[in-house]
Amino acid sequence: MIIVDETGVLDNVFDQFLKSTPIFRNRDVLRHDYIPEKLLHREEQIRFLGETVAPVLKNARCSNVFIYGKTGTGKTAATKYVLGKLISRARGLGVPINVCYVNCRLTGTEYRVFSTLCQALNVRVPFTGLAVGEIFDRFKNGLDSNARFFIIVLDEIDALIKTRGDVLLYELTRMNETLCNSRVSVVGISNDLRFKEFLEPRVVSSLSEEEIVFKPYDAAELQDILFDRARLAFCDNVLLDGAVGLCAAFAAAEHGDARRALDLLRVAGELAERGGAASITEDHIRRAEKRIEHDRILEALKNLPLHSKLVVCGVYLLGKAKISYAATGDIYEIYRELCNELALSPLTQRRVSGLINELDVIGLLNARIVSMGRYGRTKKIRLGIGRSLIREVFTNDDRIERLSDYIPACLAEISGSRN
Ligand code: ADP
Ligand code: MG
Repeated sequence: MIIVDETGVLDNVFDQFLKSTPIFRNRDVLRHDYIPEKLLHREEQIRFLGETVAPVLKNARCSNVFIYGKTGTGKTAATKYVLGKLISRARGLGVPINVCYVNCRLTGTEYRVFSTLCQALNVRVPFTGLAVGEIFDRFKNGLDSNARFFIIVLDEIDALIKTRGDVLLYELTRMNETLCNSRVSVVGISNDLRFKEFLEPRVVSSLSEEEIVFKPYDAAELQDILFDRARLAFCDNVLLDGAVGLCAAFAAAEHGDARRALDLLRVAGELAERGGAASITEDHIRRAEKRIEHDRILEALKNLPLHSKLVVCGVYLLGKAKISYAATGDIYEIYRELCNELALSPLTQRRVSGLINELDVIGLLNARIVSMGRYGRTKKIRLGIGRSLIREVFTNDDRIERLSDYIPACLAEISGSRN
């Protein structure tokens, strides 16, 4: 099919784009996986990690390290930076060292973690099909076939452990006992500060031979990081100082997340570019913040497990029936009805109450305790986000959409019972 741009709309779009002042010098430096040449305000952590891995340069095994801090505090960047430098020094000295970096959240299962480790050693394993014990043995034999130091970085390890348990870590931290030629060290990185609660004490004690904490950045630190990156990312004089300050303030209010700050800068730059503006202003940053927040909520809603979606749907429906602050019992009633309609067996009220708490933590619901005078206190729950967002997501969700015919009847019943 030949498409003719008769109206010349596209020509205008392209002309406009070509005429506008260039905003970006190099947009890639704002990507999440970009590792800057210098990491500001992380000297202490970098030095400590450097000291921990340095023994390898003198042919000794280094300690296991456990690194933790919230997202966007520079853990991944700092670890890759230090180990990159370690590898080049070790090569110069002729020390046999392998480093394997695995992102556990993306990798997903123990099997795939082990197969990534095998690949790093050129040990061939099938994509699926072996028992985990078998693939572990192949990895161990491959590793021991030559003498070397093997440093395994398990990034976002909390994601794997929470769903699969700590067998992987247990096996890895015990491995040196059975190796004859090689030595293993584990660098575990977690975004969740309470991660250790999910581990057995013996795993904690061997993994945390050393510990490094990455504290959130404050607004001033974020501002330094942003200025530094903006010089590479944007053309001269494009980014206004006030805009950088606002960007840092937004990210510091969140939890000192450098990734979020850099995202804000990128999206603001794109908005400015699209609007043909000559510079990135505070207004662009504000609009970028709204856009990112909107996308973040949509993503969170879409990825909820079905029963949590039904709970949110229930609160939405109660709101529609003018019950803007609902009690857990009300929500459970309607949730049960929705399950019924979808031929699902409902979870217990206790589980649903747990789901409500989780939804409150991520901000999709908003719970508060209300005093009822001499009747004690009760929890009241309402939506934490705009109703239109919920409609946007749920009308694209096959299973929930099936409820739409049923919803009016359900609502009539609820408001009837209240009146
Ligand atoms: P984490 O692993 O803690 O979630 P990352 O290491 O992925 O955080 O960092 C997120 C983003 O912020 C990356 O793009 C990284 O380059 C940048 N960043 C984080 N800390 C710094 C820093 N101290 N200096 C410069 N850039 C940083
Ligand atoms: Mg990370």
